[in-house]
Amino acid sequence: MTLTEQAAIERDKQDPLKDYKSEFYLKEGTVYLNGNSLGLLSKRAEKTLLTSVNDWKEQGIDGWMNGEEPWFYFSEKLGRKTAPLIGAKPEEVIVTGSITVNIHQLVSSFYKPEGTRTKILADAITFPSDIYALKSMLTLKGYEPGNHLVQAGDPKGNLLDEDSLIEAMTEDVALILLPSVLYRSGQVLDMKRLTEEAHRRGIIIGFDLAHSIGALPHDLHDWGVDFAMWCNYKYMNNGPGGTGGLFVHENHFGTEPGLAGWFGSDKDKQFDMAHEFTPAPDAGAFQIGTPHVLSSAPLLGSLDMFEEAGIEAVRKKSLALTTYFMELAEEKLSGLGFTIINPREEQRRGGHICLQHTHSASICKALKASDIIPDFRAPDMIRLAPVAFYTGFHDVWRTVDTLASIVKNEEYKDYTNKRNVIA
Ligand SMILES: *Cc1c(COP(=O)(O)O)cnc(C)c1O
Repeated sequence: MTLTEQAAIERDKQDPLKDYKSEFYLKEGTVYLNGNSLGLLSKRAEKTLLTSVNDWKEQGIDGWMNGEEPWFYFSEKLGRKTAPLIGAKPEEVIVTGSITVNIHQLVSSFYKPEGTRTKILADAITFPSDIYALKSMLTLKGYEPGNHLVQAGDPKGNLLDEDSLIEAMTEDVALILLPSVLYRSGQVLDMKRLTEEAHRRGIIIGFDLAHSIGALPHDLHDWGVDFAMWCNYKYMNNGPGGTGGLFVHENHFGTEPGLAGWFGSDKDKQFDMAHEFTPAPDAGAFQIGTPHVLSSAPLLGSLDMFEEAGIEAVRKKSLALTTYFMELAEEKLSGLGFTIINPREEQRRGGHICLQHTHSASICKALKASDIIPDFRAPDMIRLAPVAFYTGFHDVWRTVDTLASIVKNEEYKDYTNKRNVIA
């Protein structure tokens, strides 16, 4: 395939998802490649947010039951609509909490140390908050995190090897928490295989779907994954601090939530105001307090777009964009000091490209000055997510072309090679 600018423009014309771009608030002339940190606002998400604001405006307290989107059932409705994205049954999903809170909730519910089986297995390169949560959970249960949290893999590496993760599934491990997609390199782990191997050894396994939900399809129910959690502000475009979600396999319905609260109640019993907790019969039981309605409302409009386009089509375009990115990088960036860190094979690659360069921080600042919004991760990684809904082939072409000129013309030297506060 030819790698000319004209060919990129042609590919955009052929793209079946091309019309979605105009549904997003994206400044003219800007290429937004940071949707893996904070997805953009769509008009549909804005509309459902305003519906909930209006329900509050018009109905006050009655919005709970009589709003256009009754708040009392909203988390369940959003859960049901999320289910197809992760291959779950509708009642296995609830929209609630944040990743970190949901890790606390699910680990406190499913980590049941017994006899010599007391350890938690994670990996050495996952997102820090996941590790903080696991360590504090161990401490709460009276175990020393120093010898009870096992972190498999090379802490200086970018990729994980499933075989060595499986080797670390020893008899003293009670619970495993792993990412579906590594937040830096974008590597997809083989969740099906890891789940089978964990279960063969009698170990409970959960996944953090932060970097896979909304980017690629999953089959959590059929794979038998025990639990999962995610945020909705990355590929799901639910807005800053938007409410996240969790999955509990139906095999575990009836498990007592570790952190109980009244919104985990059976809906018909909740307002009896009894001091005896009657949990919901499904994943709803793992809610804690009053739902964050205004932080959940944009998700409804956003989910509508996923339902319409289909996650398979989203994944197909995402892979085409990242493949194209690498082809261009090989042609235009070779000899300029970039290393491609993300896996090349399609089934092992998530939604973003990860480049390493000694001048990454200043290159990112120069990209931003050219209206291309990247994502820097210390010490030297550039993450670029060409999100299927609002990124085109010409955007990718322009990004690689700009990267080449920033390095060739030493434009990056105008900027310090240091991260900003948020990066
Ligand atoms: C984004 C991300 C988080 C953030 O957690 P919050 O509780 O939503 O702030 C946690 N873990 C991973 C793997 C992430 O990618």
